[in-house]
Amino acid sequence: LKEKNARSLWHPMAHPADSLANPPTIVTGAEGVSIIDVDGHKVVDGVGGLWNVNLGFSCQPIKDAIAAQLEQLPYYSTFRGTTNDAVIELSEELREFFEPDGLTRAFYTSGGSDSVETALRLARQYHKVKGEPARTKYLSLKKGYHGTHFGGASVNGNANFRTAYEPLMAGCFHIPAPYPYRNPFNETDPEKLAQLCLQALEDEIAFQGAGTIAAFIMEPILGAGGVIPPHKSFMPGVRDICTRNGILLIADEVITAFGRTGSWSGSRHWGVKPDFMCTAKAITNGYFPFGAVMIADDVVQVFEGDKTGKAAIGHGYTYSGHPVGAAAALACLAETKRLKVNENAAARGAELFSGLQALQDKYEMIGDVRGGHGLMCALELVSDRASKAPIGKGPIGTLQEVTYQNGAMVRVSGPNVILSPPLVLTSADVQTILTALDAGFAAAS
Ligand code: PMP
Repeated sequence: LKEKNARSLWHPMAHPADSLANPPTIVTGAEGVSIIDVDGHKVVDGVGGLWNVNLGFSCQPIKDAIAAQLEQLPYYSTFRGTTNDAVIELSEELREFFEPDGLTRAFYTSGGSDSVETALRLARQYHKVKGEPARTKYLSLKKGYHGTHFGGASVNGNANFRTAYEPLMAGCFHIPAPYPYRNPFNETDPEKLAQLCLQALEDEIAFQGAGTIAAFIMEPILGAGGVIPPHKSFMPGVRDICTRNGILLIADEVITAFGRTGSWSGSRHWGVKPDFMCTAKAITNGYFPFGAVMIADDVVQVFEGDKTGKAAIGHGYTYSGHPVGAAAALACLAETKRLKVNENAAARGAELFSGLQALQDKYEMIGDVRGGHGLMCALELVSDRASKAPIGKGPIGTLQEVTYQNGAMVRVSGPNVILSPPLVLTSADVQTILTALDAGFAAAS
């Protein structure tokens, strides 16, 4: 398998030449919150698939729903003049679930990048329908991650995900993220930093001209950029600035929706109502590629009141509203609510966060520990705490490998170790992750 993998697969995140010398983990099975590899090792999945397997790998109601839907209707989309019963039922459920966020209508996609692309496109279309065609630009946060399509890559705030693909979409501008550990203002106080970043947003809007900006897109807690929770004043401040300037607010909740932060959505966590909310990942617990863009009622009203005919311009996917994805999502949502995974995420997340802080007291190389909002945490590793110089590849590779050998899979992304385990984690599983990391750090130090 290792040789075939090196010969036939393109791994987008690894250099092809590394693939044989440094083979990826070949996962052949999974159970509960653990994965089983080709050599028979069973380890707790501290990555939760890819922030998406919130309910673990053994969720029988979702498996049953997928099997039943395949028998009843395996495919028909909502792209053209059709819909299907599964997706109608799902839309009713999502409408109720996201009602507190002011979002009433769902547009379906095949994943997170599609959801971002949809929101970006619909934002421009919204302004055209409204008679403000000059609003075409986008603002976003440095360190933000918004998927791999050209629109999403253009608003991505991390140069690593952009430079190889340039020129990207014109008219995208990035403002500093409220990231206390490193920021251009050298401000470590989260509240003061939030104010400085909001001022930077105001300044950028004034510089660009408010009437040229279609939307601001942000993750309520930056995920792939290294789990960076903003101060609680930040997202409400963004909402206020957007509203005052006629700019749509797109919440990219591909990671944060459905309980990961301890709330049912990241926006709700900060008490904010966005205009669009991009979801995917945990919507089917990772069992089917699927996503939904939830749209605010007043945005829908503009499209529905359109007299220009511009709203009819097509945007859709072959797999929009896929009935098997919809059935999976419907069962997933029911289990998500029944198990109240948001509450477990908050409780286990607090245990994990304090355990990681204890590790920081023990190991010099842990420069920063971030978390405290459900089950998304990160450790930022440095070679020297005073200079904050990033850690080298050697120690971080050892850390990852030894942690795995000791029972937990963690994700390494640049200088960060990211933890996003399933939300059904137990306290014993949290302990397994912490003990494995302890062994990993001891070996890497
Ligand atoms: N937005 C965010 C915030 C994400 O974290 C991701 C994926 N990690 C995406 C968009 C893209 O989702 P996908 O990989 O399903 O296309």
